[in-house]
Amino acid sequence: QFVPDPQKKTLVILGTGWGSVALLKKLDTSNYNVVVISPRNYFLFTPLLPSCTTGNIEHRSIMEPVRQILRRKKAAVKFYEAEATHIDVEKKVVKITDNSEIKGKVHETEVPYDMLVIGVGAENATFGIPGVREHSCFLKEIKDAQAIRTKIMDCVETAAFKDQEPEEIDRLLHMVVVGGGPTGVEFAGELRDFFDEDIKKLIPDIAPRFKVTLIEALPNVLPMFSKQLIDYTESTFKEEDIKIMTKTMVKKVTDRTVEAEVTGPDGKKSLITIPYGLLVWATGNTLRPLVRDLLSQIPAQKDSRRGLAVNEYLVVQGARDIWAVGDCAVAGYAPTAQVASQEGAFLARLFNNMAKTEALEQRVRELSASLNLKPGDTAAVTEEIESIEKQLRRIKDVKPFHYSHQGSLAYIGSEKAVADVAWLNGNVASGGKLTYLFWRSAYLSMCFSTRNRALVALDWIKAKVYGRDVSRE
Ligand code: FAD
Ligand code: NAD
Repeated sequence: QFVPDPQKKTLVILGTGWGSVALLKKLDTSNYNVVVISPRNYFLFTPLLPSCTTGNIEHRSIMEPVRQILRRKKAAVKFYEAEATHIDVEKKVVKITDNSEIKGKVHETEVPYDMLVIGVGAENATFGIPGVREHSCFLKEIKDAQAIRTKIMDCVETAAFKDQEPEEIDRLLHMVVVGGGPTGVEFAGELRDFFDEDIKKLIPDIAPRFKVTLIEALPNVLPMFSKQLIDYTESTFKEEDIKIMTKTMVKKVTDRTVEAEVTGPDGKKSLITIPYGLLVWATGNTLRPLVRDLLSQIPAQKDSRRGLAVNEYLVVQGARDIWAVGDCAVAGYAPTAQVASQEGAFLARLFNNMAKTEALEQRVRELSASLNLKPGDTAAVTEEIESIEKQLRRIKDVKPFHYSHQGSLAYIGSEKAVADVAWLNGNVASGGKLTYLFWRSAYLSMCFSTRNRALVALDWIKAKVYGRDVSRE
């Protein structure tokens, strides 16, 4: 039962993603009135999301209900399934709206805060390119993966329709991925596996016409990996028959085609039109409207373009009692789950420390007052005060946030993965089947709960033994 304690500060946490959940996991909730607000009542293990697009993993296996997470906390936490739409930094309130399908008579209200943590993540960047929002699929949320899974099978069944013309079959079976970052690469790899391992066997007559193309504006894919692994990925994709088009910038999307500008080896630019059946858009992140709105309220953030600029304690610069974590914060690191979860865990330690400090300072005040009231035998009390002050000095010496990079991992299809892993002050780069086993075991061990781990492992076994489920929902 959540009963707010007027003696305690109200800590409001926005979001149930990597940053916010890492904070919740380590936070001693008995120190604050904790309120969590998110339109998603579950945590999503994003690294395995590309596997959900083909049914290699079922989507519920990588979701953990936030109510389960909160049930395990020492003191009760309030959760509201809602979107924060506006933060009033003067009044210290968050406006929230229930944007779900079923709304009650009250679906908009305000939540006051003493301390606020923003962990709302980011949206898909489209750079205002015409047609992208209307015609492509994204890959960020569960509903995106479900939409892709349905659409792949729709393209396949439509291509297999009686009397379908060859040119139309080629278009329907052309799966185009825009963005050669890890999201685009992992999805392309999963897609090729799906065809080679399952669809080919079930619908052999259309199999030879199936094509995957990955379009990237830069000269190579996976820019955050070492050169050796970029080359390995590009050669593996060649073997897997995934066409990579680098130095190709998509400029326009229609319901059936992608229009792109290609820069040739001589530097000359030309426009090409590529017909597609399924288009997946994976060109990175942009700001959420809530973050954009907050930036416009804080003069100190007028130059922030990629998110909320935070200091080394993750305090939003120019704001009072507001912290930010993860993809919506700019702390000088890449927008990854690793960074978000380390930031969340850092804030938990900071807040636990702040509460401990306040409790100890209160004790010192009480002891000092008792000394004034009963000036007799003071030795024991003075000794206790000194010991508390020593503790306080230690607790107050909180080091700034420091990110420790554990490495980068990506699945590239055909049971191969690439890994740039930090090892003994250096970096080890590896790619291939063994790395794939490492990738699997690393992600399995990182799953949120034992339940998630068991479900993911079972899904892998199920897909291997019976094949992926190709029914179109
Ligand atoms: P998120 O995890 O996106 O969480 C944001 C939360 O805020 C969500 O609960 C959302 O519902 C909520 N929210 C949104 N708007 C509002 C609002 N207005 N009010 C309140 N709540 C709101 N990173 C890695 O390090 N390794 C990987 O292998 C990896 N794989 C990935 C695979 C895919 C397909 C994708 C898309 C990303 C991957 N990432 C990976 C990146 C990683 O998922 C993100 O960096 C990470 O999710 C950021 O965490 P976050 O807490 O900032 O945001
Ligand atoms: P990204 O920003 O890493 O890559 C997007 C790519 O799209 C860029 O290479 C960019 O050049 C390209 N692009 C942009 N506009 C284009 C256009 N018009 N035409 C063609 N190409 C265009 O995006 P992401 O892959 O979605 O990753 C987002 C974040 O999540 C990154 O920080 C990434 O590291 C992280 N992530 C990590 C993993 C992993 O570690 N396995 C997996 C997925 C995502």
